[in-house]
Amino acid sequence: MVKRSKKAKTMRKLIKAIWIFNWFNSCGFAELVPLVGSRWDMERFGMIIVGTPRHADVLFIAGYQTHKSLERAKRVYEQMAEPKVVIALGSCTMTGGMYWDSYNTIKRLDDYLPVTMYIPGCPPRPEAVFEACEKIFEHVKELE
Ligand code: SF4
Repeated sequence: MVKRSKKAKTMRKLIKAIWIFNWFNSCGFAELVPLVGSRWDMERFGMIIVGTPRHADVLFIAGYQTHKSLERAKRVYEQMAEPKVVIALGSCTMTGGMYWDSYNTIKRLDDYLPVTMYIPGCPPRPEAVFEACEKIFEHVKELE
């Protein structure tokens, strides 16, 4: 067996990143905006936003989901390759949030999609999103 060189190991660490596709409704979009700005700059930590679910490892879902938008969210999820992870951001995905008694919104996202992790808050703090992604990195290492 060929022993991996130190340089190769370093390079492997450098290319490690999680690719994220966003599915954000309503003010849920505001939940990720601070992370892409210069204050938090998530790309420094290997969290890359991609333009298509076919390239994504992680699906970020935020905001209340209507029955109509949920069908699109399911289609996005189905297009992602295995292994894949769903992270739900904010109270709306956990309970329906302030729209809990609306006739056309869902209450718990994991009744419809396999949610790996919820991040509570309205909206969640950027630190909480980073912590969730750190856990995803650890999960990926366990898979190796
Ligand atoms: S959790 Fe709060 S910030 Fe996020 S979509 Fe719901 S109401 Fe908006």
